[in-house]
Amino acid sequence: MSEEQQKSYKVYLGGKWIETAEKIQITDPATGQKFASVSTLNREQVRSAFDTAQAALPAWRGITAKERGAYLNRVADEVHKRADEIARLITLENGKPMAQSKGEMAMTEDHLRWFAEEGRRAYGRVVPHQVPGKRNMVVKTPIGVVGAIAPWNFPLVLGIRKAAPALAAGCPVVLKPSSQTPLSSIAFAECVEAAGIPGGVFQVVVGSARMIAEEFLTNSICRKITFTGSTEVGRELIKGAAESIKPLSLELGGLAPLLVFDDCNLDQAVQETLVAKFRNTGQSCIAANRIYVQRSIHDEFVKRFVVGVQKLKTGPGLDPGTDIGPLINQQALDAALAQIEDAASRGGKVLCGGKRMGSSGFFLEPTVIDGVGGPSLCMREETFAPVAPIATFETEDEAIDVANASEYGLSAYAMTRDIGRIFRLAERIEAGTLGINDGAPTTSNCPFGGVKQSGWGRELGIEGLDAFLETKHVSFGGM
Ligand code: NAP
Repeated sequence: MSEEQQKSYKVYLGGKWIETAEKIQITDPATGQKFASVSTLNREQVRSAFDTAQAALPAWRGITAKERGAYLNRVADEVHKRADEIARLITLENGKPMAQSKGEMAMTEDHLRWFAEEGRRAYGRVVPHQVPGKRNMVVKTPIGVVGAIAPWNFPLVLGIRKAAPALAAGCPVVLKPSSQTPLSSIAFAECVEAAGIPGGVFQVVVGSARMIAEEFLTNSICRKITFTGSTEVGRELIKGAAESIKPLSLELGGLAPLLVFDDCNLDQAVQETLVAKFRNTGQSCIAANRIYVQRSIHDEFVKRFVVGVQKLKTGPGLDPGTDIGPLINQQALDAALAQIEDAASRGGKVLCGGKRMGSSGFFLEPTVIDGVGGPSLCMREETFAPVAPIATFETEDEAIDVANASEYGLSAYAMTRDIGRIFRLAERIEAGTLGINDGAPTTSNCPFGGVKQSGWGRELGIEGLDAFLETKHVSFGGM
């Protein structure tokens, strides 16, 4: 075991590193073995995080956006310096291939730098008055202390997608990472400390999700909850927020359709579909869940796609050249195997993969299933695994109808070179993000989020900052 694997991790509270008797164990999905432990907090300690954040708020809100940006850039410098080491932690706790963990680090740094700049553009406006002697102005103010909850699939970057804009806007943040993958967020807190951000401005809490969420929901200091995770938990948060009318941003589940039209560049379409489906071992909220291919090119697309899938190398994320890592845990593996069995039992043809690999860790062979019908589980439920179900369509209208026939609307993909069609899809597809010949359509400078049951609000882009700002009208009389 390497040094970091034996470490017992503390949590970062009020600018101090806290060790408690109660610990959770962290499992390496590549081996199924526990390799680290983390201190957990009780309700009292989580509450104290909010008191400390509230105490830090006036000074943090009071400095200029330019100064806050300078702090965030210093955090980004620390992240940059430690990118390989923290990427290794991500791979250990989450399982993803090292190259992708490094990609997550690069995106984390980019989010920090984007919001370091964007904080300076929290513009209000002066509005031409309608009543003589009056004047009207709109100002933006930080919303206050923020509670952020992040999932395990992108353990660091999804938390920072919340923390960076909140901090840039002038809001202290209490971040709760997933208890399956808290290590990279703890390492990030070290970067925050090294950058000199005052204690209490950014804190990490680890412990029972239900207890922490309850504190976020009921503590009046917490002015906003920003959550990324399942639609099921998002729904619980909405119910819990009803009492205090707590504002929520929700990044929830997806069931992305990917449409391959017969005018596409076939090689490019295959390549981008491989990325859209298999990045992060299929455990991405924007992963292509359902692949629909226009009938006239179906056979050729499937032939080339299967060749591409068979070239993907599955193994531990730390092994050089790995494309596909393990799934996060046994439950995820069982759920994926159940979806494969269900699709096959309904007439789907497994063209490659379909089975567990090895007996330690949670590896699944990258799988392609053709001729999958609409009622199959993998066409209706989030798959979160390297399983690619394929069906066919005849016309553009039919493709749009099947794409929209879901309660989710996070992302969608289309492989086509027809400019008219691209505009029609942009107008009619019900999703927060549409990737045209692009299997990885996420970037710091553009909004990200879902429609329908995929969530409320947007992260990233200029919208990402606005999520942590209040809008106030100031009206002047007797002018
Ligand atoms: P999850 O079970 O909903 O957990 C997400 C976070 O919520 C974790 O920190 C978890 O803590 C916490 N949590 C669990 N139960 C809670 C409760 N009752 N109240 C408040 N918080 C609670 O989701 P996941 O399995 O980690 O992540 C996968 C899901 O996230 C998928 O559905 C995926 O599509 C979605 N996702 C969405 C986006 C997006 O941007 N829209 C991005 C990534 C993932 P513990 O880990 O400690 O239980």
